[in-house]
Amino acid sequence: MSRYIFVTGGVVSSLGKGVSAASLGALLQSRGYSVHVRKFDPYLNVDPGTMSPLQHGEVYVTDDGFETDLDLGYYERFLGIKLSKNDSVSGGRIYWDVLNAERRGDYLGATVQMIPHVTNKIKDYIAVPTNTDFVICEIGGTVGDIEGKVFLESIRQFANEVGRRNVMFAHLTLAPYLEQSGELKTKPTQMSVRRLLENGIQADVLFVRSPRMLTPDERAKIGMFCNLPAKNVVTSMDVDNIYKIPLVYDEQDVFNIMAAHFGLPEASGDMSKIKKIEQYLMADLPVCTIGIVGKYFDVADAYKSLNEALFHASIQNNVRLKIKKIDAEKFNPEDCADVDGILVPGGFGARGVEGKIAAAKYARENNIPYMGICLGMQVAVIDFMRNVVGDNTANSTEFAKNCTPVIDIMHDCATENMGGTLRLGAYPCVIKPGTLAEKVYGANRISERHRHRYEVNIEYRDALEKNGMVISGMSPDGKLPEMIEIPTHKFFIAGQFHPEFQSNPFSGHPLFNSFIAAAKAE
Ligand code: GLN
Repeated sequence: MSRYIFVTGGVVSSLGKGVSAASLGALLQSRGYSVHVRKFDPYLNVDPGTMSPLQHGEVYVTDDGFETDLDLGYYERFLGIKLSKNDSVSGGRIYWDVLNAERRGDYLGATVQMIPHVTNKIKDYIAVPTNTDFVICEIGGTVGDIEGKVFLESIRQFANEVGRRNVMFAHLTLAPYLEQSGELKTKPTQMSVRRLLENGIQADVLFVRSPRMLTPDERAKIGMFCNLPAKNVVTSMDVDNIYKIPLVYDEQDVFNIMAAHFGLPEASGDMSKIKKIEQYLMADLPVCTIGIVGKYFDVADAYKSLNEALFHASIQNNVRLKIKKIDAEKFNPEDCADVDGILVPGGFGARGVEGKIAAAKYARENNIPYMGICLGMQVAVIDFMRNVVGDNTANSTEFAKNCTPVIDIMHDCATENMGGTLRLGAYPCVIKPGTLAEKVYGANRISERHRHRYEVNIEYRDALEKNGMVISGMSPDGKLPEMIEIPTHKFFIAGQFHPEFQSNPFSGHPLFNSFIAAAKAE
């Protein structure tokens, strides 16, 4: 049986529960334990796919094509694990399941209630088998939220059922610092822990977010009010880079706190992978500037995985990454004068698309390393069709009705796996021998994740290839172009998929690694 760690939060939102949960996983892994992570979001949306990136940051996509919140990205990157639709569960989905069961008559006429019907459903999701030593479950929101109450009740019951020693309750709070008196205030933490207790949950370990390390006195004081030994009061220090958090926890012996709780032997772990990132962050390195031509810049986290993937590739290449945000709607080639590489990321809708096409053209004509992601591949193909093949009516049917539809919805390819009409999740791609794509991946068959509606129209393959564009990746059935490149160019490559969802800080992703390597050589 797996052991469970439930991570809740209090005082304020956005304290970094996801990063804390992932860091606990990293500590367990470094001691040889296997981990799985789940996120429970009490809100009523049935899944995050319909939530605006303007509110929630990017929509992350799993291999099985589920659109999830971006915390799942942290988990996959930090821990090198693959998650699926059972690992991102919202309140809306729980109620949806329960109400559907009620309509089907599954409850045989019983009165359907929060306890036991909703709580049982939540516990079912918690208990989906994972074959790992540990399952870390993050409960979204903050203690005291109305939506969250039934989730707290469920984890309370769950702990009672599987045994209190098989479950650890970790709680994340904030200790605000009062500048004038120079004091770190512990009262909000005490109140938050008490709130949790009102729900029958005694926190086993506290992670207190604070701008400096808590003193032994402060830890003892919090412990006294919260029924905990002082050593179980851990500082979750503000850091300039989230990858330092596992080290901050390791220095405070957090693994041994968990080991003591679960009755496991104490152990020290190999943190060298994460220490390497810390060393990279401290080193004095040459700057590599990447221009991202996009349009979601005013939303924090809208390009979360993309920024991460570029950062990971910079670690691999020993350069200091500088991202230049170039607004596609106001694109001016001069914006690119000081960049070492141009990247056009994914995007939806016509706003800014002509600027993105102009950016692909600029990179192509000036031999500047170019990487296109999803829409970034589509605009590269549109530019090529217009300005090299010479058909200036070429466009995507997403943006123009009467055009040469070099990008189109390829209806015969719409399989049942297309949630709504989007092609979502992992698809295989066959790579053509002798291409840059083959060199980059060092493989002839890859799997990457998708989230788009339109495709390069295979009917224009000959026109594109006769004029020097190579379709270097194809769906195995030979119908959907998945990668393109221009062999006469220094580095010009694009994919219909989102490679950023599969990057990690320890080895990067082959496409990003080689893009940064090409840009670095500039
Ligand atoms: N809007 C384009 C499509 O739907 C590209 C989507 C994307 O970049 N993710 O095909």
